[in-house]
Amino acid sequence: MIRGLVFDLDDTLCDDTNSYHRAALSAARELAAAHGVDAYALKEAYIREADGFWQRLTHEEIGKSVGMLRVRMWAAALADVGVRDESEALRAADLYNRARNTNLALFPQVEGRLADWRARYRLALLTNGFAETHREKIALLELEPFFDAILIADEVGMVKPDPRVFLHACQRLQTEPPQTVMVGDRYDRDIAGAMEAGLHTVWVNVRGEALPAGQPPPDAVIAEIGQLDEVLSRWL
Ligand SMILES: [Mg+2]
Repeated sequence: MIRGLVFDLDDTLCDDTNSYHRAALSAARELAAAHGVDAYALKEAYIREADGFWQRLTHEEIGKSVGMLRVRMWAAALADVGVRDESEALRAADLYNRARNTNLALFPQVEGRLADWRARYRLALLTNGFAETHREKIALLELEPFFDAILIADEVGMVKPDPRVFLHACQRLQTEPPQTVMVGDRYDRDIAGAMEAGLHTVWVNVRGEALPAGQPPPDAVIAEIGQLDEVLSRWL
């Protein structure tokens, strides 16, 4: 009997990759025009910096200012296309942040489902984000009313895939791990840690990735969040 659902946020409930790529391109276009450099090259340089940062994220980094980290990523991206100017990195980060907030949206398959999930389960949101950006993001997406617990890595002091953070989510939901399902798009961050903690797992494999070699499969794999109800119905 499933009593609780724990959702990842980025690329599980909202189309984060699309929104940050669009925001990066919009900021890169303005900067590139001012400096006579290629906007796509600048955008790609920023994406490499940002993707690398999120891939490497450990609990030592949480607690730093993500605003400053973002300025540093833009400074590195600008240097990559030959622009070395700290004030332009600040401007790029500001343009990016503003574009980011206007681009943000839940997947259409999530709209209208949250109230129903809320009526049937206790719900937690568990993200490896920073409170500085993710509290605002969660507010803009109007997610608070649907969740019994919202856990952000730097507020709880743990990052996925640390199994303790999944146990902490269960505690907050007052459910046992075998009564709880973790739903997320990253095998390494969302699924591996949740399995270790004894939760059920649904991998929302939005990028069509292969199961990492030698790793145990999740309980279910779906291509997009709209397929979650079908999986949940099997556990009723
Ligand atoms: Mg995610």
